[in-house]
Amino acid sequence: MKIPLARSWITESDADCLSKAVRSNRLALGPWTERFEERLAEYVGVRYAIAVSSGTSALHLIVRALGIGPGDEVITTPFSFIASTNCILFERAVPVFADIDPVTLCIDPEAVDRAITPRTKAVLAVDVFGRPADWPALEAIAGRRGVELIDDSAEALGSDLAGRRCGSFGRAGVFGFYPNKQITTGEGGAVVTDDEELASLCRSMANQGRSPENQWLQHIRLGYNYRIDEMSAALGCSQLARIDRIVAARAEVAAWYEDALEGIDRLLLPARSFDGQMSWFVYVVRLSEDHSKEDRDAILRGLTDRGIGCGDYFQPIHLQPFLREELGTGPGLCPITESVGERTIALPFYVGLTKSDVACVADAVRDLLRGKGARR
Ligand SMILES: *Cc1c(COP(=O)(O)O)cnc(C)c1O
Repeated sequence: MKIPLARSWITESDADCLSKAVRSNRLALGPWTERFEERLAEYVGVRYAIAVSSGTSALHLIVRALGIGPGDEVITTPFSFIASTNCILFERAVPVFADIDPVTLCIDPEAVDRAITPRTKAVLAVDVFGRPADWPALEAIAGRRGVELIDDSAEALGSDLAGRRCGSFGRAGVFGFYPNKQITTGEGGAVVTDDEELASLCRSMANQGRSPENQWLQHIRLGYNYRIDEMSAALGCSQLARIDRIVAARAEVAAWYEDALEGIDRLLLPARSFDGQMSWFVYVVRLSEDHSKEDRDAILRGLTDRGIGCGDYFQPIHLQPFLREELGTGPGLCPITESVGERTIALPFYVGLTKSDVACVADAVRDLLRGKGARR
């Protein structure tokens, strides 16, 4: 690929931190993990952060800590990465899909309200592509209907809504630090929450069910090994120290895209206006409704042929082969998600992408779009 879809921003000081961690010869459960957790909690504006092995394990811990189990329903979005649904299935609970808002691409609060039944235990909403979900509406519904609320903010470190950072909404939130996210630890994730009891439950379950008193071979509940290691936490500390620069640099790339793509006929750009800051995870554009999935796929192939990385984020979760088999879901369940999912194009997006790279991608998109759509 001449221009990849995503790329981590790794500096000399990242490498220095990593090297310090490994030279200390304390490779797990040490000071870097503690420091990373403190700084993450402070940045997000919550009391507790528990750094773990991935965003997926963070989600699983929250679902278990809330006591969600067989037969319980959890309302969630089908327009997301698979982990936000799988974490419900890990506990044999039932994911119930509510459709999305066609502008924000986040779960539609009215669809959530309609999907609530006496079996509903929680709502798991996602800050899709870094865009905050409609948390005020979701919090009102969760409060009124007496259900738990979980913030999958894996794509939104640094985003906020009216000054409140993503991840801090609902009972608990998660972050993921895979290399394509705003900050990376290689593999890694975190649970964030203000709830002391939930925090200590998650910490215990992430560490083989040990008690907080930490008698090494005493296990008071079923646990996992979801720990992060010191090298990853050191990298996380170093990356988090420049989060403001990262968020600003990503915003600059998004602004270049907006300028370069504006005015292309029948191409929808990400909706910008809301009361808060957007920490871009990816830059996803969408073909207008008069295009087919074939049009979109042809453009993806055309970009790939030109050495430009791209992706079809997201294929609806309820249409994934495993979910169809497991839940009997299929087309027609969430029409907005299905329609959007057929027409999205994720463009190369990372710190270090230059203005001329962006111009080159925009030219390719413009060129490939010519003659597509408006035929039916
Ligand atoms: C990245 C991501 C996760 C967590 O992913 P891991 O690869 O397990 O760290 C969870 N939910 C969403 C929406 C994500 O994008």
